[in-house]
Amino acid sequence: MTDLDGELLLRDDAGFEAARVDRIFNRRLTSRTPAAVLRVGSEADVVRGVRLARERGWQVAVRSGGHSWAQWSVRDDVLVLDLAALQELSYDASTGVATASPAVQGGATLDPFLAEHGRFFPGGHCPTVGIGGFLLQGGQGWNARGWGWAAEHVVGLDVVTAAGELVHASAEVNADLYWAARGSGPGFPGVVTRFHLATRPRFAHVVQTVQAYRLADFDEVMTWLHDAHHGVADCVEIVALTKTDDDLGPVLLVTAVAFVDDLETGREALAPFRANPALDRALLHVDAQPTTLAEQRLRQLHDNPEGHRWAVDNAWLTGDAAAVVPAMRRSFTTLPNAQAFTIWFSMAPLRALPDMAFSMQSEIYLASYVVWPDAADDDANVAWLADVMRDLEPVTAGQYLGDGDLERRQVRFMDDAHWARFCAIRDARDPDRLFVGYLAGASGAANRNHWE
Ligand SMILES: Cc1cc2nc3c(=O)[nH]c(=O)nc-3n(C[C@H](O)[C@H](O)[C@H](O)COP(=O)(O)OP(=O)(O)OC[C@H]3O[C@@H](n4cnc5c(N)ncnc54)[C@H](O)[C@@H]3O)c2cc1C
Repeated sequence: MTDLDGELLLRDDAGFEAARVDRIFNRRLTSRTPAAVLRVGSEADVVRGVRLARERGWQVAVRSGGHSWAQWSVRDDVLVLDLAALQELSYDASTGVATASPAVQGGATLDPFLAEHGRFFPGGHCPTVGIGGFLLQGGQGWNARGWGWAAEHVVGLDVVTAAGELVHASAEVNADLYWAARGSGPGFPGVVTRFHLATRPRFAHVVQTVQAYRLADFDEVMTWLHDAHHGVADCVEIVALTKTDDDLGPVLLVTAVAFVDDLETGREALAPFRANPALDRALLHVDAQPTTLAEQRLRQLHDNPEGHRWAVDNAWLTGDAAAVVPAMRRSFTTLPNAQAFTIWFSMAPLRALPDMAFSMQSEIYLASYVVWPDAADDDANVAWLADVMRDLEPVTAGQYLGDGDLERRQVRFMDDAHWARFCAIRDARDPDRLFVGYLAGASGAANRNHWE
């Protein structure tokens, strides 16, 4: 094709292998091989790419930030549309609405831009996550328990449809696409070329509490937190995690980060954490001290190193502490190596969701992240993850697509009514399945817990 602004690479072209996987974060690389990769050079190239795929009989896969753990953009025999070169950003002060291309990184690129305008958008915790895959899955950004899912900030999007037309979608026009784009993740039947995002006023201060405990205190601390998190002010992000600290070794950290306009409000919001019954045994206690979002993001970058192999899984947990805490125990207290970590992320008290495809959540989100450098450890690490996730099944309501891999484990990610509506939209918008959709094995995505 000669009329492209970007570059089309076919399997035999020099540079194809780099185009296939260079931008993939998880370096436990799949061998799946597309027919071609189009590094789009413009929005018009996305339209051209979709039409080209139709002519050549290819399905279409999309890559924005390349951070999908399961490498959903690398699919066999498809045309990959790699949107990396689209990096548009704008902000309209009269509406508070920003626009951003899907490959824009939420923390590293969008946030500094909005900060200049005194505004904020809750992008992914790790600053390099692309907003494309993140928003389509729901987007668990900073302080999701208080500010909601990042997808709730999407007021519109520009989409190239399976028919190769560029359309706008919002609550008023193409409302089916707007509904599906907020939660269907890699099943979305279209290519998003631009998000229109409601922004929030930027907080003035960030205040944090950090408590570190020995793993022997896991049951006591987590049983307390299981009930205590409901009562914490909604300006506070609450995460408990186990990791191997450089100085302290394996620890359980209880972290609470308040986003506030004045320091005193932050200190008050963090006061409930002083009631932790194990506090006198804490190995470390940072009590309501000022921090910055930049400092928090540096920690994320440290814990999520590039160039590594990853296996990740997650669960929405439900039940009382007597059932949930023992089910979580092995995922937190038997980490397979010094880089692995498991997080407990509070969404309580659960907020009602707007009408959108995203519809599966519970008060407690658990995710295990196994990271390692050496291929020789692949089998042992993947087996550990499967084992600890099995422990959780009796208290698992579903999963979040953002940390899931449907090929490895089918777990529900929408409620049944939303799933039925999504399937109808997909059938109407993409009847001959131009878009490659969920990577979920031969029978496709079931939206079922595999053990039920
Ligand atoms: C280090 C790290 C930290 C993370 N932290 C968080 C976090 O804090 N919160 C959270 O919610 N998630 C987090 N995630 C998960 C992340 O949100 C998902 O992996 C998400 O898919 C990444 O988006 P992406 O655009 O970078 O990924 P990609 O791999 O580029 O995209 C994933 C899939 O989404 C679909 N897609 C992407 N863009 C488009 C588009 N423009 N049009 C149509 N379909 C598209 C495609 O099916 C694509 O294959 C993290 C991941 C990593 C690796």
